[in-house]
Amino acid sequence: MSGIDTPLGLWDSHGLGGYELGAGNLAEDSRGRWYINICATPKVKPMQQLQLFNDTVGVDLGLKDFAATSDGAVIETQQVYRALEEKLGIAQRANKKARVKAIHAKIANRRKDFHHKLSRKLVHSYAAIFIGNVNASALAKTRMAKSVLDAGWSQFRTQVRYKSDDAGNWFDEVNEAFSTVTCSACGARSGPGGLKELRIREWTCPDCGAKHHRDVNSGKNIAAAGRRRLEAGILVLWGGEDVNLMHSLARRQQTRPHPTSCYG
Ligand SMILES: [Zn+2]
Repeated sequence: MSGIDTPLGLWDSHGLGGYELGAGNLAEDSRGRWYINICATPKVKPMQQLQLFNDTVGVDLGLKDFAATSDGAVIETQQVYRALEEKLGIAQRANKKARVKAIHAKIANRRKDFHHKLSRKLVHSYAAIFIGNVNASALAKTRMAKSVLDAGWSQFRTQVRYKSDDAGNWFDEVNEAFSTVTCSACGARSGPGGLKELRIREWTCPDCGAKHHRDVNSGKNIAAAGRRRLEAGILVLWGGEDVNLMHSLARRQQTRPHPTSCYG
């Protein structure tokens, strides 16, 4: 750089290692802080970066299990607060108001903690996360059950969203219509659908013979829908100047642990 004889040390807080650095200049602001303005071009070409779409996951939220992922992980609803719900019923029937309130708070805390842990694992494991936009109205039998489910799912989505934002990852909700009935292998609408068939957990596609876990199949369809959306978005981005997304995907790809070790 002109005017400076010794090399400058940089704290690379923006992950500039993934870029070819071009010409630049230094500037000082009114408070005496120095900035470097530099032209950065991503080292990886767009076609290579498209492979990063393998680093996405689709998450199906459900009633039977809390969630299932397109990679085949099935995450059970935590039994810890299931047990508390029984105690809550007993306290309610005995009309012990203070105890009911205390148990409610305990359940809420444990649920939140569970959502935090799971969302952290997901964001740590994948560069792009897509969650189905399920709501409980078609699934739950009572208004109470519906509101509890919706609140839980929305809390979980919010946590995944803000952790993704913090990590520079991609997060999106996708329309999950037909995600359960569509075979993720061949695209036929051959799967179990409707409330009556909610009990069917595993099925074989009559069209292509693929064997499916109901919710994992749904997760795969959600991941595919997310990828299509991401691809469409990236093509637009590459026409412009916003490379932040692709860069963050590249960085996550290098640092993430193996996802299958994350669920217990
Ligand atoms: Zn099929």
